[in-house]
Amino acid sequence: MVFHCELLGLSLEELTALVESHGQPPYRARQLHQALYRERVSQLSAISTLPLDYRTRLVDEGWQVGLPEIEKRFISVDGTVRYLLRFLDGQTVETVWMPEGDGGEFGDGTDAGDEESRGFSRATICVSSQVGCAVNCRFCMTALLGVQRSLTPGEIVGQILAVLADHGVSVDRQRINLVFMGQGEPFLNYDNFMKAVRLLVSAVGIPESRMTVSTAGIVPRIRDFAQEPVRPKLAISLNGSNDAGRESVMPINRKWNLDDLLSAAREFPLRSRELLTFEYVLLGGENDSVENAREVVALLRGLRAKVNLIALNPGPEIPYATPSEERVLAFQQTLIRAGIPAFIRRPRGRDIYAACGQLKRTTELVQL
Ligand code: SAH
Repeated sequence: MVFHCELLGLSLEELTALVESHGQPPYRARQLHQALYRERVSQLSAISTLPLDYRTRLVDEGWQVGLPEIEKRFISVDGTVRYLLRFLDGQTVETVWMPEGDGGEFGDGTDAGDEESRGFSRATICVSSQVGCAVNCRFCMTALLGVQRSLTPGEIVGQILAVLADHGVSVDRQRINLVFMGQGEPFLNYDNFMKAVRLLVSAVGIPESRMTVSTAGIVPRIRDFAQEPVRPKLAISLNGSNDAGRESVMPINRKWNLDDLLSAAREFPLRSRELLTFEYVLLGGENDSVENAREVVALLRGLRAKVNLIALNPGPEIPYATPSEERVLAFQQTLIRAGIPAFIRRPRGRDIYAACGQLKRTTELVQL
């Protein structure tokens, strides 16, 4: 039986150990590292810096690059592209490319000017951490898939490399933001997620200051994350203004309630000028009243935080309604008047099921 092993996901140290176990000099590891993470090769045979007989040996031993294959692309009228990517075992996830002029769905949009005028272009990639999701938020279509498995570090990094390669993007010349907000709960795949982050910073060359991870509120992992020397910015999905309300839309609130969640948030060590982000999905008639907004103000008192408001992106089998524009604005105003920065996130790629909460590997596109 031939076993398959993916090279993507291995650090320089691990590649060094591998090539040394084959009796090769350590510089072969640097060549592999460069080819995998900077040149984004999809086949071992394409690594021309390695001698042919060594490439053949790696292939014979069952090694593969492990770059996911692009199975489908769905292109939105707003330029967003939803990718269906396939891994070696046939499992698929979605990854979303959002070209932008304004910081995108989750970017803060504050520093576009300089780089843009020097001819930079910007984009945000929304990355998945698991196949499906186990958390079961009642407004999210990914929950309908259940969780199939967690992704490996190489599969997390591979999504980004595949999408960058498809767009011919150089991370040195274009500003790429990453949001770990695709399928899955990153903090339920914590070690693989963190290893992927370290590879993205050190091997691919994307600074962690351009990355944001969102969690449904896995409190012990928020505390671990707080201790990481290299880490993305943190976003927390709030989505409810009191325990009863949050519990009815996010059953995970029974395990870690608002008290637990907000005490972890209060203890989270922020860097200078860093803010915590709270995401709040507005569900018409459910959690979107001015009274709810006042409760959010009380919850967040004293925190260095901003709030991203997301009007529900609808989907089949989602038992909630998108709130009216007036209610969204009234909610936002209540936060702003209380001194909490609050932004309304514009949906990206709703027409192709690429927006927040819509990643369910939909391949038949119907009119929403
Ligand atoms: N599991 C992580 C990462 C997913 S991020 C988390 O829960 O944070 C996806 C973001 O989209 C979360 O803030 C989530 O609350 C939000 N979301 C989920 N379903 C949505 C929907 N149908 N409409 C709008 N936002 C949604």
